[in-house]
Amino acid sequence: MFDTLSDRLGGVFDKLRGRGALREQDVRDAMREVRIALLEADVALPVARRFIDAVTEKAVGQDVLRSVTPGQQVIKIVHDELVETLGGMEVEGLRFDAKPPVVIMMVGLQGSGKTTTTAKLAKLIRERHGKKALMASLDVNRPAAQEQLAILGTQVDVATLPIVVGQQPVDIARRAMESARLQNFDVLLLDTAGRLHVDDALMAEMKAVAGVSSPNEVLLVVDSLTGQDAVNVAQNFTNEVPLTGVVLTRMDGDARGGAALSMRAVTGKPIKFAGTGEKLDAIEPFRPGSVADRILGMGDVVSLVERAAAAIKEEDAEKLARNLEKGKFDLDDLAMQLKQMRNMGGLGMLAGMMPGMKKAKAAMANSGMDDKVLVHMEAIIGSMTAKERANPDLMNAKRKKRVAAGSGTDVQTVNKVLKMHQEMARAMKQIKKMGGLKGLAAMFG
Ligand code: GDP
Ligand code: MG
Repeated sequence: MFDTLSDRLGGVFDKLRGRGALREQDVRDAMREVRIALLEADVALPVARRFIDAVTEKAVGQDVLRSVTPGQQVIKIVHDELVETLGGMEVEGLRFDAKPPVVIMMVGLQGSGKTTTTAKLAKLIRERHGKKALMASLDVNRPAAQEQLAILGTQVDVATLPIVVGQQPVDIARRAMESARLQNFDVLLLDTAGRLHVDDALMAEMKAVAGVSSPNEVLLVVDSLTGQDAVNVAQNFTNEVPLTGVVLTRMDGDARGGAALSMRAVTGKPIKFAGTGEKLDAIEPFRPGSVADRILGMGDVVSLVERAAAAIKEEDAEKLARNLEKGKFDLDDLAMQLKQMRNMGGLGMLAGMMPGMKKAKAAMANSGMDDKVLVHMEAIIGSMTAKERANPDLMNAKRKKRVAAGSGTDVQTVNKVLKMHQEMARAMKQIKKMGGLKGLAAMFG
């Protein structure tokens, strides 16, 4: 079941229907719920406290708009404050405002995703910015770390510094600078070593490398799934090296977005990118709006619709939007979604974005369903009559057997599809409850 912030606040504000100003006691009650939502989203306690104080100050005494419920209004205030705290609407990209080679230094703990992110950024720099980049691995601690970067380099078609066995990080950095200069590279990406924990040796190494390479960007790479731990890591790095930004990796996982809020508050630096998968194009500019939605537990509905609209034909998108507006979602809609899911990055991507989909996805994972099965599912829906698709309740045992035979599957699989449909339909109802897409757009516009 859903336990979104909007549900919670609905309870708090039910007694206060649409008139007058937000009273201090009501706001305080609401903030208790917001606080729980923040902590559940893995926001660090001191950060949550500061945030709540800021929101309380803004909310108390505000006139309640007639068109929205007090709960919605508080959510809007919280949402806006989250977006603001996460960096506002401006997306900060990479800065190249230095004499080439512009040096980008990646720092962070071992396993945070530095090497992968280095290759992702190199690809982006080559493709989007049209710049010539060189990558160098300074990781002499982990066996084969330098080879790992070289392999990624061939995959993204970006040059890597030839490996010289036995050379130390600062010397590699110097050699990389020299190579980049001599061969006219625009950008030099330095992938540094990590440790399992922050220690003095690591910090000394980072300082020394920064000393010889004068990086234009020092990007802290943090695993968004590590929650509270990530905050300590960020604190340590902030004190020691001149960070210019943060990259949050594994935003494709179950991260609830709290690390982002903490990271921004602790480092005071912009979160520039979000890593969204293991593939080398799975990196996106960080979007405070989506993360704010995620923290509030509302799912990234707006972005889901955008993505859907880009992937599916316009009239389909309109039909989907109309149905979402009505809170309706039949099996025809599901069939259309299934067809597009593969284009949109598969189930994992969708699950991260929509309330309710998490459960559906977990249910599917448990039953061994994955993207490959999407095709089966489409066949199942294709074997139903138009009437059955419009009204799934018609699906009795006899009909299920027929559909299973028609699609070359079995009744069990048919049941799974129906179950998935139910989960999604429930999610659509939730969207409807929040005022439909227009309501959402108005709230967050
Ligand atoms: P490093 O030790 O900091 O250099 O970390 P690596 O770049 O070697 O990454 C460690 C693991 O995390 C690898 O298996 C990566 O594929 C994976 N990884 C990195 N970024 C992401 C991400 O954004 N999402 C997911 N799902 N996996 C990631
Ligand atoms: Mg590495």
